[in-house]
Amino acid sequence: MLTKSQLMSWRQCPKRLWLETHGDPAPPTDSSKLQRGETVGRMARVVFGDGDAVTIDRRSAGRRSALDQTATEMASLGRTLFEAAFGDDDLAAYADVVRPAADGWELLEVKDAGSVKTHHLDDVAIQAAAAQRSGFAPKRICITHVDTDWTYPGGDDYRGLFAIAEVTDDVGALVASVGDWVAEAKATIALPTAPARPTGPHCDTPYPCAFYEACAAQDPTATHPIQWLPGALSKAAKELVEAGAREMEDLPDEVLNETQSRVKAQTLAGVARFDEAEAAADVADWTAPLHFLDFETANPVVPLWAGTRPYAQIPFQFSLHLLEADGTLAHTECLLTDGNDPSRRFAEALIAACRSEGAVVVYNAGFERGRIKDLAQRYEALAPQLEAIAARLVDLQPVAKARYYHPDQRGSWSIKKVLPCLVPELRYDLLDGVKEGGMAIEAYLKLIHPNCSPERKATLEAQLRRYCHLDTLAMVALWARFAANRAVLSAALNAAPRP
Ligand code: SF4
Repeated sequence: MLTKSQLMSWRQCPKRLWLETHGDPAPPTDSSKLQRGETVGRMARVVFGDGDAVTIDRRSAGRRSALDQTATEMASLGRTLFEAAFGDDDLAAYADVVRPAADGWELLEVKDAGSVKTHHLDDVAIQAAAAQRSGFAPKRICITHVDTDWTYPGGDDYRGLFAIAEVTDDVGALVASVGDWVAEAKATIALPTAPARPTGPHCDTPYPCAFYEACAAQDPTATHPIQWLPGALSKAAKELVEAGAREMEDLPDEVLNETQSRVKAQTLAGVARFDEAEAAADVADWTAPLHFLDFETANPVVPLWAGTRPYAQIPFQFSLHLLEADGTLAHTECLLTDGNDPSRRFAEALIAACRSEGAVVVYNAGFERGRIKDLAQRYEALAPQLEAIAARLVDLQPVAKARYYHPDQRGSWSIKKVLPCLVPELRYDLLDGVKEGGMAIEAYLKLIHPNCSPERKATLEAQLRRYCHLDTLAMVALWARFAANRAVLSAALNAAPRP
């Protein structure tokens, strides 16, 4: 018998299903994504539950009992069911929400997403097919996703969290195909060895596959892999990849954009390029004092604070290195961890730290500008000062992109790729605990949880402070390299964490 998740694995990649069935246990997939999915599922039971709703308990009672209980409930069509069990000897599925409708009943599949995605249709088609096999064809089939336009009013009132999109007509043909999918997936499982499949974009779509490292090790090796080319490939380049191209040199410059051609040329040459005079000219007119600024934000799918929306990026921490015209370097920061909405206090601290003059230097300005604009929208009284800060933003990343590239960057100009090449003395790997943005979000959400002990909270706070401090110190060092300012580079290196 196949479960819905096995069929979804097969839809993504038959090799994945085979490995999940016969291979070594897969390493855990992204735990934060799993937690978000569980949180959304819990909220769906709150939002769609009423006093009468019932959760079918297959975990303790077993599948047979869950099927029987579901059948009994469905016969009366009386109340909302969570985790209703459907299927037969070939297919098993458990529906997030089943509820009575005017002329039958409707099936709601709940998703941690802001809109309906293509793979959601496969998912709900399998649910509907399993329900049909149980003799309960749904009247309406719906994807329930998070409504990103909704604003949480507070007071645990989450009634507006979800939007319901009916997809009954869209999934009709898919439901009819599920029988074939089951047969083909069973044939895949019966194979004596895993089906051959090189890695590719399907390994991340729709879900990151836990077997990636093992599969990539079996791929024909490439010395200069095409995957290191930045940005999307042109149609002509994709056709060459489909035809077997794996090395950058297999793609002529005519099918690449200017940046991709540049990356290809330097990768094949094996040398870095640094246009030092142009970089210095790019940053020459940035007005002192320079404020090197970086934000950390959290984007909970279920809003925690009144006035915020699902997935909204809520800033909770910034680091700022201030470089005065005379070369003096000072550091200030803000980290708000009491569990209340940090937004307004963050905005006030930011206004104080950025003062009223001098360039505000960021790396990838779109992100910081977006958060400052969000705050200006929420707090009208602070908007003029916040808008003034946004107007002072200057961006290091375009300078890096235009003037510097090292083959070790592998097509990326993220600060964590550029820094080890241009300023190898500053190292994120020396940090304890939090070493990148995703870990910062996890640490923040852990430390504001009421169950977090004071000791654990203090540890996580210290990790966050060191991480964000290094982010802006790295920006100071990159600026110093671009501006050819040895004194400031030396000051930044002296302030770096030690092994
Ligand atoms: S890593 Fe890619 S090729 Fe390998 S099993 Fe997963 S999806 Fe298939």
